[in-house]
Amino acid sequence: MWPAAQGARMPGGAVPEDTIRIFDTTLRDGEQAPGCTMTRAEKLQVAHQLMRLNVDIIEAGFPIASLGDWDAVHAIASEVGTQPGAPIICGLARANEKDIDSCAGAIAPAPRPRIHTFIATSDIHLEHKLRMTRAEVIATVSRMVAHARSHCEDVEFSPEDAGRSDREYLYDVLRAAIASGATTLNIPDTVGYTMPDEYYALIAGIRVHVKTAGEGVTLSTHCHDDLGLAVANSLAGVRAGARQIECAINGLGERAGNAALEECVMAIETRRNEFGAGTRIVTRELVRTSRLVSQCTGVAVPPNKAIVGANAFAHAAGIHQHGMISNPLTYEIMDAEMVGAEPTALVLGKHSGRHAFRKRLDELGHSLGEEELVVAFGRFKDLCDVQKVVSQAEILALIAGLRGSAAVS
Ligand SMILES: [Zn+2]
Repeated sequence: MWPAAQGARMPGGAVPEDTIRIFDTTLRDGEQAPGCTMTRAEKLQVAHQLMRLNVDIIEAGFPIASLGDWDAVHAIASEVGTQPGAPIICGLARANEKDIDSCAGAIAPAPRPRIHTFIATSDIHLEHKLRMTRAEVIATVSRMVAHARSHCEDVEFSPEDAGRSDREYLYDVLRAAIASGATTLNIPDTVGYTMPDEYYALIAGIRVHVKTAGEGVTLSTHCHDDLGLAVANSLAGVRAGARQIECAINGLGERAGNAALEECVMAIETRRNEFGAGTRIVTRELVRTSRLVSQCTGVAVPPNKAIVGANAFAHAAGIHQHGMISNPLTYEIMDAEMVGAEPTALVLGKHSGRHAFRKRLDELGHSLGEEELVVAFGRFKDLCDVQKVVSQAEILALIAGLRGSAAVS
């Protein structure tokens, strides 16, 4: 295990500031995923909601990719980026002049623009994709980060496939990026291959060897979920000293997706003491944001999805329901209202016990005597044998039948 961030000495120097910036890439990495394309109007709607959620940075798109992408980024920079208290509006650009100039034009209307430029640094990418030597890549990084800085003061650099890059070479590339003016260094686990302890060591190694502490340079995580470890890896990065997480609503992103914003944020907020840091996210907007993104992309959220799934705060087991009625802390680590979900639901079905059944009757205004309750509970269980969940109307009908009276309705 790695040490807890709080009170522990961070690798590479002093404990960094206690705010973790949330960089949302739903509109870029998320929108790039198969079947997740959004219209200009939908992107604007999502960007407005991301502002309500209070994310620190919106990566609005990849302007060089198409005219439509450029236009959407420009519209977000104009309509959302110019509002008081708006997030930083960021655009993605490969490390070449054409990409960077196009990006700079698209984000220009925002008072706080950021250019995010990237190039691959793993040997496999250098050889088979870029056909460049290591020295050529370093020279390109120096020139292109400086070029981005000529457009705006806030420049983020990502060494693509950092997780599989030679460590010493990676440090050299990052040193060159800082020397040319990069203010955020984002370390992608592009292929989702890294384990949490390895990702911790990757970030910790950079903090020790590249000297980011005290230089005004923020380290950032960008983890993919191919092995289901995107959130775990992002949190390991935070423990090692990263102070920006790149993530997407509902975990959208290339292939298996990116780290889910709602999971990263609630892990940090729920275990704030462990992390010794928090976020600026307005957590009660999480469920609303998740639903809007699901609606705009047409990608459904599974019911068992952490934080925002329909069952995230539903209890079906009788023992759990009894505990929840006595004290919600018995089975809940978060308050449903904190993430903007409907209050905890005790789902009545075959796993429910008499406590939950009686509570629902009380809520419906029917306080039954002991004998009546025994009979009613028996009929309720009979009904549960033939169907999965018993609705409120069915419970009312059951009581009406029991009393043989139309007075109960
Ligand atoms: Zn990505």
